[in-house]
Amino acid sequence: MAAPQKIAVLSVYDKTGLLDLAKGLTAHNVRLLASGGTARLLRDASFPVSDVSAITNAPEMLGGRVKTLHPAVHGGILARSIEADEKDLAAHGIAKIDFVVCNLYPFKETVAKVNVTVDEAVEDVDIGGVTLLRAAAKNHARVTVLSDPGDYAGFLKELSAGSDSDAAGAISKPTRERYALKAFEHTADYDAAIATFFRQRFASDAARGPVQHLALRYGTNPHQKSAAAFTAAPGAALPFAVLNGAPGYVNLLDALNAWPLVKELRAALGLPAAASFKHVSPAGAAVGVPLSPAERAVYMVDDVAGLADSGLAQAYARARGADRMSSFGDVVALSDPVDAATARLLAREVSDGVVAPAFAPDALAILARKKAGRYLVLRVDPAFEPPPLELRDVFGVRLSQTRNDARIAPDESFGTVVVPRAGDGAVLPASARRDLAVATIALKYTQSNSVCYALNGQVIGLGAGQQSRIHCTRLAGDKADSWWLRFHDRCLGLRWKKGVKRADKSNAIDMLCSGQVPAEPGIEREDFEANFEVVPETFSDAERKEWGAKLGEVACSSDAFFPFVDNVYRAHRSGVKYLAAPTGSQNDQAVFTTAEKLGITFVEQHIRLFHH
Ligand code: 5GP
Repeated sequence: MAAPQKIAVLSVYDKTGLLDLAKGLTAHNVRLLASGGTARLLRDASFPVSDVSAITNAPEMLGGRVKTLHPAVHGGILARSIEADEKDLAAHGIAKIDFVVCNLYPFKETVAKVNVTVDEAVEDVDIGGVTLLRAAAKNHARVTVLSDPGDYAGFLKELSAGSDSDAAGAISKPTRERYALKAFEHTADYDAAIATFFRQRFASDAARGPVQHLALRYGTNPHQKSAAAFTAAPGAALPFAVLNGAPGYVNLLDALNAWPLVKELRAALGLPAAASFKHVSPAGAAVGVPLSPAERAVYMVDDVAGLADSGLAQAYARARGADRMSSFGDVVALSDPVDAATARLLAREVSDGVVAPAFAPDALAILARKKAGRYLVLRVDPAFEPPPLELRDVFGVRLSQTRNDARIAPDESFGTVVVPRAGDGAVLPASARRDLAVATIALKYTQSNSVCYALNGQVIGLGAGQQSRIHCTRLAGDKADSWWLRFHDRCLGLRWKKGVKRADKSNAIDMLCSGQVPAEPGIEREDFEANFEVVPETFSDAERKEWGAKLGEVACSSDAFFPFVDNVYRAHRSGVKYLAAPTGSQNDQAVFTTAEKLGITFVEQHIRLFHH
């Protein structure tokens, strides 16, 4: 018995290449069935073509909303080569369809038009085409689906070369699979575009319910015009509400890294926590350990009302005080409901925004006045847990990974003391475990490579984003040294000219402490001196050494192993007594031995914590 004539259903919006395809199909004696516009074009070009209605016995209706949606079409596509399906087809007089050629209404192009209405968009939501593609792709074991005119030529070539004895048609299984995948991707992309449009229209206004889409002014830079934030999980609201201001793209990158950092610090140490972020790394992070009088002076928070009673304010004073220069214009994360004392502290610093789980009314009122009313205030849902899988696009390539959900806890993460050898009384004091936890949790949210020094429950020096580990260790160590020099009597007793701003004071102190004041006279030195009623002496090498020797008990953590012993030497010079890092370097033994010789306790922290 001769094989039945093969049937192709054609329904394309983009009619590119259609005539060449029809020519090839006809040459292979394939019967052409097409929807209205597609059939018209083929008929005008004198191809033998039947309307889909020839097999459905139903006209296109509802202005084209229903064209191919019919069991005669979808039964013909979805039927398998099994007895039960054959019986059903025979009972209903339905012929099998072998090829489906379809591409969809131009939804993306329509919604890209300026001032497009919802009604216009709705009309371009393709229904029958998506159904054709999905059905054909689902039944790729038998059916060939073409969703891309770019595939027509290859398809025809294979059709010509193929053998009719192939049970699944002349197109090979791998080709049918590749086309099926393409069809699934086509419909997925199409549905994503539809969801994006309606998310913008129906779920971007808090007055209408949970906000799922937030338009941003621009991306990383002002020329990156189209920017938005929306949730990764379907149907989920954004995990934060904008209480004041309008977030930018980089603000959100900072806030969405800073918030989990403080949430984890809070959970790990049971104290209010704060982080001060700049360019997606912490400039400082801390828990609310009470401040000494010297710390209050160095962090410029001496005169903040209510500070002593607010663990959260003290945490932020520490986070902000660690590296006041780097924190300039920060995005702040706070683990606890924000009180007025913390708001007062924030109000007087140059800062871009804050994220926290709640705000007391008086705190919010203070913050809403900041930056002429433009200060960014985000209330985050503290219960929100992101999905386990993270996606991101880089250069058109989508990368996915499971989220870094490693738990860092003071009692669990630092139990493997390598040197001094266990049994030699090598137990870490609670303060060291606390500080290692602060440093390590900070690293988990710092651009790699990274090394962090911590003391008194706060970061005192952090080296982020360096390609070489020793450069991180040096950068963080130099910052820790500057931080410590700020406690020197000379810095505590600085006599400022009247009217010098806080930021200018911070810059001048940084110059003084980091040894940047030019030795020779000149305008740079004059500018520095102009800040002071009494110009301070610069620090000599001997003074730095003598003062530096008084810094001790510092904890230091690294986001990956130390490849060379130079890191240990450098850490030691900034008072490091406790060192935590993953192992796995060829130089592990040398690192351990060097630490031991320098009286440093080396703890293996088992989890590498790269962050990008
Ligand atoms: P034509 O130009 O042939 O009239 O229409 C082709 C377009 O209609 C294709 O983009 C196809 O995805 C779409 N289409 C096919 N069947 C249906 C249907 O039953 N309803 C709707 N709304 N669109 C369909």
